[in-house]
Parts: sequence; C-alpha cells; structure tokens
Amino acid sequence: MFDLQQDLVAERRLILVTDLPAAIAAGDVVARYQPKVELATGRTAGFEALARWVHPDLGPISPAEFIELAQHSGSISALTDSILDQALTQAARWREAGHAVPVSVNMAPGVLADDDLSERVRAALERHGLPPDALILELTESMSLADDRRTRDNVLRLAAAGVMMSIDDFGTGYAALSYLQNLPVGEVKIDRTFVARMAEHPGDFVIVSGIARLLHSIGLRVVAEGVEDEATWNLLGDLGCYAAQGYLMSPALEPDEALAWLGASVWQPEGVAAG
Ligand code: C2E
Ligand code: CA
Ligand code: CA
Repeated sequence: MFDLQQDLVAERRLILVTDLPAAIAAGDVVARYQPKVELATGRTAGFEALARWVHPDLGPISPAEFIELAQHSGSISALTDSILDQALTQAARWREAGHAVPVSVNMAPGVLADDDLSERVRAALERHGLPPDALILELTESMSLADDRRTRDNVLRLAAAGVMMSIDDFGTGYAALSYLQNLPVGEVKIDRTFVARMAEHPGDFVIVSGIARLLHSIGLRVVAEGVEDEATWNLLGDLGCYAAQGYLMSPALEPDEALAWLGASVWQPEGVAAG
C-alpha cells in the first residue's frame, strides 16, 4: 500500500519535472498580481507577482510544489526570468495608465547566486523602459543571504542600481538580524503564520508587534502578509506598519483585474465604509 503511494508521488513528480521547462518556455507559467495596500491611506502600494501553472492533465499545481521542483531541476532561473518579464510588462502598463506603483518579484536562493543576475534584471528594466524603483525583489531569509559571496554581490549591485530589496517570510527563517543592517534592505514582510491569527492569539500579536517595533527602530518599512480580517487590518495600522497583503483585500488578480483595481478608489474595510 505504502509502496503504491510512493510510486504515485514519484510518477507525479516525474511528469511535472518533465513538463515544466516546456511550460515555462511556452509562457504557460503565468504571473498573477496580489495588491499590497497602504494601511494609512488605503492606496495601492504595489503588487506581488505570484506564479501560476495549470498542468493540462493534472490541473492547477501549487506554486509551493512547482517552485520546489524548478529549484531542484535547473529551471528556476528560466521561470524567474519569465515571471520578471511578465511582471515588468504589467508595471509598464500601470505606469501608462498613470499609476507608478512597483511590482514585487520573488527570488529563490538559487537564482540569487546566478553570476549574471544583476545584468539580467537591469536589462529587463531597460527593455521595458522602467526605472529601478518600478521593481522590488523579495528574498527569503536564508543562510545564503548572509554567507554566499555571489548572492551578496548580486544584492549589493542591484540595490546600488536602485532596486529595493524586501525580506520575505520574516520570522520563519534563520533570523540573523545582523544581516538586516549589513544588507541594503528597504522592506520586510512579516510571515503570515504570525499575522493571520494575531487578532485572536495574544501570543501572535506579541510577536508581530515586537517584530514591527524592532524593524521600525532600524528604519525599515514593514509589510504584513496573510491579512484575512478587519481586526488584523486595524491592529497593523495601530502598529504603524506600512502595508498589508491578504485575502481581506484581494487574492492575486489577472493582469486586467489588477489594472482595474488601480483605477478603483482607495480600499477600506467594510466596517468603515458602512459608518
Ligand atoms: P509568498 O512569497 O509568501 O507569497 C504569498 C503567498 O500567500 C501566496 O501563495 C499567496 O497567494 C498567499 N496568500 C496571500 N494572501 C493570503 C491570505 O490572506 N491568507 C493565506 N492563507 N494565504 C495568502 P502562493 O501564490 O500559493 O505562493 C506560495 C509561495 O510560492 C510564495 O509564497 C512564494 O514563496 C512561492 N512563489 C510564488 N510565485 C513565485 C515566483 O514567481 N518565484 C519564486 N521564486 N517563488 C514563487
Ligand atoms: Ca513573496
Ligand atoms: Ca511571504
């Protein structure tokens, strides 16, 4: 019984690993855009590009599954380049419509160690006629961020070129706080495992407020992920956080929906609108 299950898992993995490179090349791994909303104003602070893949036979594959596969099968750089290109295409479209908001793109640790990464990113910005502040790179907390020479060089070069670095999933990784001061980081995203239930769990609230206070004291702006209810939105505003991202405001949107979102008025919780 157990063997059969293992076989099925291995077979699925083999199918996905085999089909992923062609799907990336064909543009079948697409970006969707989740708004980040400014807590103080309700205005859109930007969007995070999130990859989506619907396999022709197996249906929607979660990013957690195919990103991991891409990382272990050598296609993560191609995937990242494709998402970056799609994201900058949309960022240019937003600008044309009068909304100069940045797009955030996720960078897996493997990609950050690519020798030519900073050149590729700069070339992509140029191709789309965009300034460096149209792009934010989300880096997950990891050892390589602090220790790997090429990763460090890339991050320093890109930051020097004017691209903002954001630390993703903060609180879950190797939280060596020293690197926040040693790397050119402009923004930190507190992981949703702490944020999601901070309104009900006093322990989570203590963690989020402590992290936010610490990050603010060293001059970083704080984004909270996984905001699903108004109580959490209000608490984050009280803590002076910069922006919130989560299903309360919006899931990741299709390109046309994201453009329409920008055209709509500022976002506010329904409880406020009713008053
Ligand atoms: P992430 O970077 O932490 O992205 C946020 C994830 O939280 C997304 O999951 C998003 O859909 C989900 N999310 C947003 N709001 C809420 C909420 O209110 N509640 C809950 N429970 N979840 C929320 P998604 O799209 O499934 O992506 C999962 C992970 O896959 C991402 O986590 C990121 O690490 C990775 N990923 C996605 N796209 C890319 C990509 O283009 N490149 C790389 N390297 N990784 C990517
Ligand atoms: Ca992210
Ligand atoms: Ca995250």
